Amino acid sequence: MCSVLAQCVMEVDDSDKPINFEYLCDLCSCSQRLNAFLRLNKLLFNFHGRCLRCVDGVVNLRQDRSAPDGQIWRCSNKKCTFKCVIRKHSFFSGSHLSIQLIVKIIYFWSHRYPNHIVLHETRLNERTVVDFFNFCREVCSVVLEEQSEPIGGPGKVVEIDESKFGKRKYNRGKRVDGVWVFGGIERDSETPKCFFTVVEDRSAKTLIPLIKRWILPGTTILSDCWKAYSSLCDEGYVHETVNHSVEFVTDRGHHTNTIESTWNALNKSLPRYGTSKDLYNSYFAEYCMRRKFLNNSRDKFIEFLKLVVRIYHPPTADTPTAAAVPAPPEPTEAAALLSAPGLPAACTATSAIVDVLKESDVGNFDLNFNISDSELDTTMDLFD
Ligand SMILES: [Zn+2]
Repeated sequence: MCSVLAQCVMEVDDSDKPINFEYLCDLCSCSQRLNAFLRLNKLLFNFHGRCLRCVDGVVNLRQDRSAPDGQIWRCSNKKCTFKCVIRKHSFFSGSHLSIQLIVKIIYFWSHRYPNHIVLHETRLNERTVVDFFNFCREVCSVVLEEQSEPIGGPGKVVEIDESKFGKRKYNRGKRVDGVWVFGGIERDSETPKCFFTVVEDRSAKTLIPLIKRWILPGTTILSDCWKAYSSLCDEGYVHETVNHSVEFVTDRGHHTNTIESTWNALNKSLPRYGTSKDLYNSYFAEYCMRRKFLNNSRDKFIEFLKLVVRIYHPPTADTPTAAAVPAPPEPTEAAALLSAPGLPAACTATSAIVDVLKESDVGNFDLNFNISDSELDTTMDLFD
């Protein structure tokens, strides 16, 4: 890296000020500088090393105007045809959009820019922007799932409740039925924890297995008088109820205000229109991740990039697919090194994540949990 470039990168890293849009545009105005910034932050990967194809050569990063992003990893052995696009394995792979544009979309999403401003600034069509916002929420879903663990335990109090989301008060236009969401929040813990899940119905058959999966035995569970909860004492829990048709706080001081207020906050975080039922879990994941990592952070954009780093990284020796990767790209024209134009490839890359999500549609997180820089560094080092 040249010294000027290093200086540019260091500026980003050393600055006490969060990245604003003006700074981002400045960063994006030079693709080499942007790529260096992304490599430094582990969003693009370093493929420097001995060539696996010819063994004699060394793979280096080269400037190449004919390459899709102006740079390419190439073997130093002139007889060897090994090349690797700089986007390989990254959040950016599989898209026909420029890296600059994708970075700006991530920035807009991190800071919750309204859709009409994003469309105006990017000049993209709505479908493309919606797709990328969905990819951002997939990152939230996967990180959330990685951190899922049962809550409660003896001496702990968990509030549970169900709420219907997405139902229109005035049923104009396209009909939206809404979905039932079941959730639980551990109260008064140093790092309060909770889970949310979309459920088909509110029957005991549906809810009890979820309670047993996500709430530890011996927990004191507070709920309303919904009949599906009537067997909780038989399942090894202490069960207290609040009859909302009579009172909101019982004589013994029991209430479910914590989860009720969380429903309100969740409801406000959902888009008003055009949300597919299938995406509700990802919106809940977004809510949880924003609350846990972004809302109180110094720089929402940088914090979200750290979440992307957790999900997108080159396969390691521990990864079952490592033996098959890296598959050398076709030694044809540089343009062919990128996946086919359009979003199908990106969809393929993310469909693996979606498959994982289907196995467990339960989101679970620690509220106000702060991951330390050193902990994150350790996490990221694993991806080196
Ligand atoms: Zn080689």
